[in-house]
Amino acid sequence: MPNAGNYYAEAYRGGYRLNMTRATDDCLNAADPQIDFSPYDGVVILLPLPADKLTGTIWAFGGSMYLKRDGPGRYIRAAWIPVEIGAGAGNVREVPVSLLAHEMGHGFGLPHSSGPYGQVYDSRWDVMSGAFGVCSPEPVYGCPSQHTMGYHKELISWIPDGRKVVIPSGTAKLVELMRLAQPKSNGYLLAQIPLEDADHFYTVEARRIAGYDYRGLLPGEAIVIHEVDKTRSEPAHVIDADGNGDVNDEGAMWRTGETFTGRNGVTVCVAGSTATGFFVGIGNGQTPQCELAADLSSSATSASNSLPNAGQTATLYTDLVNMHATAQGVVVTSTLPAGTAYVTGTAKTSQGVVELTPAGELVFTVGALKDGAPARLSYAIRVNKNLRDPTVLTARSKAAWNGGSLPLTHTLIANAERVNLPSAAK
Ligand SMILES: [Zn+2]
Repeated sequence: MPNAGNYYAEAYRGGYRLNMTRATDDCLNAADPQIDFSPYDGVVILLPLPADKLTGTIWAFGGSMYLKRDGPGRYIRAAWIPVEIGAGAGNVREVPVSLLAHEMGHGFGLPHSSGPYGQVYDSRWDVMSGAFGVCSPEPVYGCPSQHTMGYHKELISWIPDGRKVVIPSGTAKLVELMRLAQPKSNGYLLAQIPLEDADHFYTVEARRIAGYDYRGLLPGEAIVIHEVDKTRSEPAHVIDADGNGDVNDEGAMWRTGETFTGRNGVTVCVAGSTATGFFVGIGNGQTPQCELAADLSSSATSASNSLPNAGQTATLYTDLVNMHATAQGVVVTSTLPAGTAYVTGTAKTSQGVVELTPAGELVFTVGALKDGAPARLSYAIRVNKNLRDPTVLTARSKAAWNGGSLPLTHTLIANAERVNLPSAAK
């Protein structure tokens, strides 16, 4: 560098920062012989401050710079970081990854978020707020940062189309929200609840320990709600129910069974959790559903012998699996496949009763099916002796309960020609 350290330092808010214009000009000049800037979208300036300027708070900055090198002039993302900013014991000069991520976030155009207490760096739900001071150091990179919050991810188009759900005024919806870190490839990542106008709304997001949302930095696993006012400098404020000045404790974590009551008749209730997120009832002037409906969609069918020959028997199994609320009044009606006969006395159910109707249907009256408590239904069929050709046998069943139903199908192949029809035997 062509100048002494003092040339690149300037006083700022009780401490020091880099003089961005001087640091930028001389750093880019120094790097220019080795660097073709044309393929890059951003530059990070890392420079030491002189020893007598390491007092008070040392400030880093992120934003954009006008770059006129290796092509037409253009604005690119930029950050200016005094290397001492992460100096720990022994004045080891390490810039924490969390600080780089925060400043590069500004480079992407992100603002700060915060709690409601006028403290810009207090929310550990967001790398653009409390990314510093608490961490589990990673051996190579030091302190990695957590993710940014949902509104910010949407600002920079990290919430794909169709993965944000809006709850308009006068409506309510029960939604499953995926966690923001390492989400599944489908499902909602963010819910938005409009308030008075386009500048004011709530956001609802699911945070679970996953990836960079790691234990120790992320305060916990919960639904987190922000109130967004786009007219203020840090638009998103964490909702903190206990008002105790700490947005990283239980007051900001909405868990199963808890309900947030907001402005304009907004209600957010946490109805349940999943491995990767939460179910949330959201009402905007309407009362949302906070009870999860029964869900039997994980039920499955199988058979003891899926390739029976003429005259042989096969036992057909139906394993009912319910998730969430108890399914009431579960009844499964099964129709025997054509070309088969019921083997008398074989119908069984692990719960309830079964009867054979005069019409030849089996009716399994299961009753209430609790969350996570499976029921197994079974019966045996015999393939007609005189059935000659390879024949697809389809047994259709229907599970019905209070408020829902599900079709279930067994498919078997009788007289399968294992040599001539290999694809049919798979
Ligand atoms: Zn910042």
